[in-house]
Amino acid sequence: MHPVSVPQLLTELKSGALTSRQLVQSCLDRIARFNPQINAVVHVAAQTALEQADRIDARRASGQPLGILAGLPVAVKDNICVRDMPTTCGSRMLQNFIPPHSAHVIERIVAADGILLGKLNLDEFAMGSSSETSIFGPVRNPWNLQLSAGGSSGGSAAAVAAGFVPLALGSDTGGSIRQPAAFCGVTGLKPTYGRVSRYGLVAYASSLDQIGALATDAAGCALLLQAVSGHDCRDSTSLKQTTPNWSVTGGSLQGLKVGVVREHFGAGLDSEVATAVQTAVSRLQAAGADIREVSLPNSRYAIATYYLIACCEASSNLARYDGIHYGHRAAEFQDLTDLYCQSRAEGFGAEVKRRIMLGTYALSAGYYDAYYLKALKMRRRIQEDFEAAFQQVDVLAGPTAPTAAFALGSKLSDPLEMYLSDICTISTNLAGLPGISVPCGMTADGRPIGLQLQSAALQESVLLQVAASYQQAADWHLRQPALL
Ligand code: GLN
Repeated sequence: MHPVSVPQLLTELKSGALTSRQLVQSCLDRIARFNPQINAVVHVAAQTALEQADRIDARRASGQPLGILAGLPVAVKDNICVRDMPTTCGSRMLQNFIPPHSAHVIERIVAADGILLGKLNLDEFAMGSSSETSIFGPVRNPWNLQLSAGGSSGGSAAAVAAGFVPLALGSDTGGSIRQPAAFCGVTGLKPTYGRVSRYGLVAYASSLDQIGALATDAAGCALLLQAVSGHDCRDSTSLKQTTPNWSVTGGSLQGLKVGVVREHFGAGLDSEVATAVQTAVSRLQAAGADIREVSLPNSRYAIATYYLIACCEASSNLARYDGIHYGHRAAEFQDLTDLYCQSRAEGFGAEVKRRIMLGTYALSAGYYDAYYLKALKMRRRIQEDFEAAFQQVDVLAGPTAPTAAFALGSKLSDPLEMYLSDICTISTNLAGLPGISVPCGMTADGRPIGLQLQSAALQESVLLQVAASYQQAADWHLRQPALL
């Protein structure tokens, strides 16, 4: 079995102890052996990945300069376009869609000499918290196959946890990188809104969507983020920021102020999660951090605000799937309107339809002011809460999700229950801030627990430093599922 820590892999690749071909082959072997149970990978590009590995090995052998991801396999959530690979979003609507172009992040990975290994399962159109609504069937949690891997980037988190790939791309609109990272015991980083171009990411809720990284540890996330961030004129919300050097050293947290959000420890928080997170906070304190309590008073409105805004934007973004421009087209229809209706009725699953309907309703004349406009005003209040908190502290620490992984099927029939699992993560997206989830414990029955850290916009370096310092002091991120 190959080691999955990215810095360790890079050292072995550089020294020649491991070739990129061997690494890719061992990933492919693991996928062949365990993916039939876990269902994290939905497309494997074995041939092109091995060819690319050979090219990189040859360039390394001849002493040519190589990019920062040289020889490392990366797998990609299936809502990010890769030319010549299917991009399905886990939906019947895009079951046969092969994009003619690659996303900005994919161009950057290729330019950094990373190797694209395949595509990863997700909730349909990234709408969900359990990775159960995909046409490919549910992702199973590598720690326990009866459990959800979280969502919507459940395939990305499970693939890293199962050792299928050392690095994975996910997308996070309301917690979809961080919550599955917590459920699967891996590290997941959602960058500042605008840090990474959304060009080529299939749009769900454009003012919230952001691509980010999953890996075993903070150093892995930092490396992948380093490769994919930076300005891109094809995304009008892409920030004109140069990418700093995120070399992650960890070490002392002396002088750093860490805030614990009072509202994150309210009713609904599982007691084992609360204990593990409090223990993790004590570790940060032992590393020198000054711990303070802070309040985000409007966080109780975050779920309602998020699900209004996300559904409104989804209803607008998903209007493009009309059976003509994109995706599934019904075989039988009476006229043009019927073609639209039939294609959309057949192409979308129940959760996607629910959100399109909720969003369309909230945007309609007469309801716009009462729902959408009000949600936008509350979003501003939530942003102001964070601004006030970051006047007092550098980083916020708390649980990533109120519980550890839940059983597959247990929340599917109650959407509100499902939406509540995003309670700790969604306000980060409403405010456009970065957040990271790092493994910080296990429940008595062996389910991983995540610690979420959040910072002010563009302060990823602080987040990564705190995460790396924690991972030097605690080794939860190095545990591997017994199945493997
Ligand atoms: N669970 C949230 C939702 O269903 C977040 C999804 C995401 O971040 N893509 O909208």
